[in-house]
Amino acid sequence: MVLNKKIEVKSTLVELDGDEMTRILWSMIKEELLLPYLKMDLDYYDLHIKHRNETDDQVTVEAARAVQKFGVGVKCATITPNAARVEEFDLKQEWKSPNGTIRGLLDGTVFRAPIMVKNVTPAVRNWTKPIYIGRHAYGDVYRNSELRVNGPGKAEIVFTPIDGATVRQTIHEFQGPGILQGIHNTDASIKSFAKACFTFGHDRKLDVWFSTKDTISKTYDVRFKEIFAEEYESNWKAKFNNQGLSYFYTLIDDAVARIMKSEGGLLWACKNYDGDVMSDMLASSYGSLAMMTSVLVSPRGCYMYEAAHGTVQRHYYKYLEGTKTSTNPMALIFAWSTGLRKRGELDQTPDVVTFATALEQSAMETIENGVMTGDLIKIATPDERNRQVYTEDFLQAIKMRLVSKLG
Ligand code: NAP
Ligand code: MG
Repeated sequence: MVLNKKIEVKSTLVELDGDEMTRILWSMIKEELLLPYLKMDLDYYDLHIKHRNETDDQVTVEAARAVQKFGVGVKCATITPNAARVEEFDLKQEWKSPNGTIRGLLDGTVFRAPIMVKNVTPAVRNWTKPIYIGRHAYGDVYRNSELRVNGPGKAEIVFTPIDGATVRQTIHEFQGPGILQGIHNTDASIKSFAKACFTFGHDRKLDVWFSTKDTISKTYDVRFKEIFAEEYESNWKAKFNNQGLSYFYTLIDDAVARIMKSEGGLLWACKNYDGDVMSDMLASSYGSLAMMTSVLVSPRGCYMYEAAHGTVQRHYYKYLEGTKTSTNPMALIFAWSTGLRKRGELDQTPDVVTFATALEQSAMETIENGVMTGDLIKIATPDERNRQVYTEDFLQAIKMRLVSKLG
C-alpha cells in the first residue's frame, strides 16, 4: 500500500551507505518501510569499501562535511579494513575506520541505548530499565601515535609550546626492545563531552554516572574528572536538583561492579575506549548487538545516527551463496527512525516525528507478538506464537503494522 499523499521531510537528510549484509538490509528498509511513505531529499554518499578506495577515502570526508552542513545524517555499517580486507578488495591501502574519520571531524559524544522489548529479558536480570552509554568520541587511543622500539634508549614525552620553554619528561629508559604510545585529548573536547552528557541526562531525566581511572592517571584522567565537576557545578547542579536527578563520579572498576547491581535507568558517561567495550557488553546483555541504537552528537550542532553493530560479514557470505538469512534489521531501522525524528524536530514537522514513532512501535510490536529473527528467538521468553523468520518476512510483518498505524 502507498499512502495517498507522502509525508514530506522538509530539509535534506544525509545518507551514508555501507557494506555487506547491512548494505542489503539498508536498501530493503528504504524500499519497504520508507520510500513508499516519505518524500525525502537524500544527500547520498556511498561509503562502500570499493568506493572509499576509488576516492582515496575522500567520500568519507565529504559525507562528514555534509552531516555538518545539513545537521542530520543516517549511516549504514561499514567495513574497517584490515590486511585480509586489503587482499579481498584489492585496496590501495588499509584505509582508516570511517567512523573514526567522521568522529575525528565532527568530534562529540556517541550515545547508545538498548531497544527493549517485553519478551526479551536482559541477561543481567535486574536491568529492568535501559542503561545508556555516553561514549566520548574523540582522542585517547583512537588518535594515538605509536612506536616500536628496537633496542635500548630513552623515551621522552616532549611538548613544544608556540611561546615558552619546551617541556620534557622521561617515559622510560629502555634496556631492550619494547613499545611506546602517545595519546592526547583537549579541554574543549572533554568539556563538550561533559556538556553533551549532562544535556542528555537532563532531557531524559536520567542520573549521570561518570568513571575514569584517576587514581592511576593522575594528570590525564584527573583532568576529565575536573572538567566534568566544573561543568556540573556551574551549569547543571541546580537543574539536576530541581528534577531529583544526581551526578555520580566513581572509578571505572567501581562503576563496572555497581552497574551489575543497578536496575538501569541511567546514563553512564565513558571515555572513548571504555565506551567502546562497555557498550558491546550492554548490548549483548540486553539481547543482541542488533538491539542497540547509536547516535553521534557533535558540538558543531549536528547528529549522525547509525547501528552499533558491524556489517554482519558471516551472514553476507551466506547471502552471496544464495541462502536466505535471518539477520536482525532493528538497529538499522532505528538509525532511520531516530534520524527522521531529529529531522522532524529540527524542521518542526510533527508528521515526520509521528512517522518515526509509528515505525519504531511497529518494529517492537512485531517482536513482542512473536515474529523475530534468529538472534532473538534463542533468548526470547518461550511462547507458542514465537517463530523465526527471514529478514524479508520480518520487514513485511513490520510493514503491515506500519500501514495500519499510518491509517
Ligand atoms: P558484526 O558485524 O557486528 O557481527 C558480529 C556477529 O554478531 C555476527 O556474526 C552475528 O552473529 C552477530 N550480529 C551482529 N549484528 C547482527 C544482526 N544485525 N543480526 C543478527 N546477528 C548480528 O561484526 P563482524 O562480523 O566482526 O564485523 C564485520 C565488519 O563490520 C568488519 O569489517 C568491521 O570492521 C565492521 N564494523 C563496522 C562497524 C560500524 O560501521 N559501525 C562496527 C563494528 C564493526 P552470528 O554470526 O553468530 O549470527
Ligand atoms: Mg567497537
